[in-house]
Amino acid sequence: MVFPNGTVALKEANLEVAPGEFISLIGPSGCGKTTLLRLLADLIKPTAGTIYIGGKTPEEARKARAYGYVFQAPTLMEWRTVLANVMLPLEIMGFPPAERKARAERMLELVGLERFARHYPWQLSGGMQQRVSIARALAFDPHLLFMDEPFGALDEITRENLNLELLRLWRETGKTVIFVTHSIPEAVFLSTRIVVMTPRPGKIEAIIPVDLPQPRSFETRELPEFFRLATEVREALRRGHGYEVAE
Ligand code: ADP
Repeated sequence: MVFPNGTVALKEANLEVAPGEFISLIGPSGCGKTTLLRLLADLIKPTAGTIYIGGKTPEEARKARAYGYVFQAPTLMEWRTVLANVMLPLEIMGFPPAERKARAERMLELVGLERFARHYPWQLSGGMQQRVSIARALAFDPHLLFMDEPFGALDEITRENLNLELLRLWRETGKTVIFVTHSIPEAVFLSTRIVVMTPRPGKIEAIIPVDLPQPRSFETRELPEFFRLATEVREALRRGHGYEVAE
């Protein structure tokens, strides 16, 4: 992927993802993680190469509502209640009012926030707001969930709780997740495979399978295999100069 100013944001990126996988993209700033996610979501078009999502082009997949997108900031509308925020994409897509409400309520239950449906976003903690944005992304039942550092702005304890919560949701819904992160422990904890990306130009340095037992729990982080995998990711990042200070 070459931007008009000549920046080569992604050079070697070959990846095939099976349905139901949980894939993390990890790497330092500027290695092309967000670019890769935006290409998948049809927010930008590739200058070279091809992308298929369940046999469709990213544009066809977008039109078929194949994915939901969760951003780093919750991007909720302050003047809408939690329920009305989750209903928003369904309104835009023209779902009938009764179905909007039923679906949004079901999604809030899924993320454990049904009691907060009538609250406003500013009445919730950062972690709860991010759960609302996950419910919103899932409201129209996409097969795929793209998540761009959704927990990056949260404290470590909230983040670990939400990691666990996200895995429960992933198990219960069978979605395919593509998750961008800067955090090695987060990637190891969540993923079925970790895609290690390195910068200048952005490329896939390694793809590391994570065979830690499912379902994962707080104890997972204490397993020797967890440390071994974290070390493997760190070494792949160093090999691709992912630890160098950017010029
Ligand atoms: P990451 O998400 O890993 O931090 P990005 O995908 O945002 O990385 O960026 C990869 C590279 O592409 C960076 O060098 C960034 O400056 C550059 N880049 C991203 N978007 C644009 C754009 N619209 N125009 C020019 N360069 C861009």
